[in-house]
Amino acid sequence: MKDCLFCKIIAGEIPSEKVYENDDVFAFKDISPQAPFHAVIVPKAHIGSAAEINAENSRYAAKIFEAVAEIAKEQKLDNGFRVVTNAGEDGGQTVGHLHFHMLAKRYLQWPPG
Ligand code: AMP
Ligand code: ZN
Repeated sequence: MKDCLFCKIIAGEIPSEKVYENDDVFAFKDISPQAPFHAVIVPKAHIGSAAEINAENSRYAAKIFEAVAEIAKEQKLDNGFRVVTNAGEDGGQTVGHLHFHMLAKRYLQWPPG
């Protein structure tokens, strides 16, 4: 989608540090990491947020979690990790393209605050 930051990162129009890629999913290092390992995982199709997942596009959610398991293996995140998606204003979403944060390599408090 035009004027979408993450669509531009997927297209290579804005540089990123790639962590993982397949036909459906792209993952890159977060520019403002909140943990020693912090990746952003996105579907290659533009979906606005978790609020826009439906019967037509929900296969991307499954593909993202397949990628999560692959990334955990590749990055040796044996001690655990957290996956979170922020949706809408109260959710703290700042980029309007569905994305999942994958955080690891430190103890992650719960609840997150
Ligand atoms: P959210 O606040 O959940 O919408 O997450 C958006 C995330 O995108 C934030 O953690 C930002 O640090 C990250 N971000 C913004 N711009 C870039 C960029 N150019 N490259 C990598 N990560 C980015
Ligand atoms: Zn997009």
